[in-house]
Amino acid sequence: MPSIFSKILAGQIPGQFVFRDELWAALLDIRPVAPGHVLLIPLHEGQHLSDLPPVTLAALGDRLARLTATVKAASGAPAVNVVVNDGPAAGQEVPHAHLHIWPRFPDDGKGFAWPHTAYAEGELATWAVQLRSAWR
Ligand code: 5GP
Repeated sequence: MPSIFSKILAGQIPGQFVFRDELWAALLDIRPVAPGHVLLIPLHEGQHLSDLPPVTLAALGDRLARLTATVKAASGAPAVNVVVNDGPAAGQEVPHAHLHIWPRFPDDGKGFAWPHTAYAEGELATWAVQLRSAWR
């Protein structure tokens, strides 16, 4: 079954688009963290970033950099958050890969709470080994 984003991209459900090209589109999130919150969505439907075709991933940096500049220019914000919820355990509700970009202003009260933790003695190095061996 097509995702809600595929239905919007197909014109079956309305969406307010910022741009759309042969690989990516950006549209406004209907439940924004802040006004101007946009979603950068690949036309190819895959749940995870790692499911996307190489040609789509190769264009991501260009579209993302331009969209962060666009959100800042349109909102006057000096900063943005860029967030990816890659999998349900990370908070992904729509199983179609996408990036969130929303404007940030000093003291806007939005916060962004990272639950920082600490490594036990030697644990950081162990994780580095595990991650290097998993790198593909
Ligand atoms: P996720 O939790 O999957 O990272 O984020 C999904 C986002 O899609 C949410 O922020 C939600 O507000 C947005 N969303 C869900 N349904 C629709 C819709 O029909 N139209 C638009 N424009 N955004 C949607």
